[in-house]
Amino acid sequence: PQAGRYRQFHQIGGEVFGSLDPLVDAEIISIAHKVVKELKIEAVVEVNSIGCKVCRPAYREALTQYLEQVSGHLCEDCIDRKDRNPLRVLDCKVPTCKSAVKDAPKMVDFLCEECREHYQKLLEYLNIMGIPYVENPNLVRGLDYYTKTVFEVVSRELGITIIAGGRYDYLVEEMGGVPTPAIGFAVGVERLAMLVKELPQRQALYMVIPLGEDTVGYALKVCELLREKGKRVELSYKRAGLKKQLELANKLKADYAVIVGEDEMKEESLSIKNLHTGEQVKLSLKELFSHVL
Ligand SMILES: [Zn+2]
Ligand SMILES: [Zn+2]
Repeated sequence: PQAGRYRQFHQIGGEVFGSLDPLVDAEIISIAHKVVKELKIEAVVEVNSIGCKVCRPAYREALTQYLEQVSGHLCEDCIDRKDRNPLRVLDCKVPTCKSAVKDAPKMVDFLCEECREHYQKLLEYLNIMGIPYVENPNLVRGLDYYTKTVFEVVSRELGITIIAGGRYDYLVEEMGGVPTPAIGFAVGVERLAMLVKELPQRQALYMVIPLGEDTVGYALKVCELLREKGKRVELSYKRAGLKKQLELANKLKADYAVIVGEDEMKEESLSIKNLHTGEQVKLSLKELFSHVL
């Protein structure tokens, strides 16, 4: 099997139900792309449209005819596939099959007006969002239930698919539900793990420690301000002395303790203790806004 493929594996994914708008396709692809981007994995988005109930039958027909002509070059599996599920021949990894389908008719040339417009809008949105993509007319995804948009996020380094997804506008109905268009993707966690070289830096944790019941309200305000600055913040729920609360902060692996006692409350300030170095500074709330934490 391919690298990073196991019998048992983990997936994370995203799905949107209820909209046919290509905007949603673009956003889903953007989210999928962000997953690899955040992890600094070099990858490219491959995209295609495989049409709908209206336009796919004619394409299937044309493809089957073409495959009949080149059947002498197809692998055994593809000989079988060309009648059952001809689209799957397009993504066969066997080299002779790959070259045999080079000149195969392309789905994008067979799209009905609705599908064509949907696909063009999607590409337009990807351009606007600056998402690097290539159109891959042979990208079909194996599953029959896909419609219109299909995409993969492919590792440039290893040439393997990390994320795969697409639209499945008929699936909910086919499963007995109310007709509901949908799109989604799945990330292969094992593959992702294989490609990650450095984990994104864990964001520092600030633990806000109120000293005394009277300071809890003020501590809450400090929490909000820190969160507004984009910090990861936890408010200590332990009504105890400083020592006990610092123990809790250590237990939660906090990086900073933000201590707010009576004095701090009166001065509208806070004391920030670096729990790694023990260093402590006092800042006024005003300074908090200009201070680079
Ligand atoms: Zn169509
Ligand atoms: Zn094949």
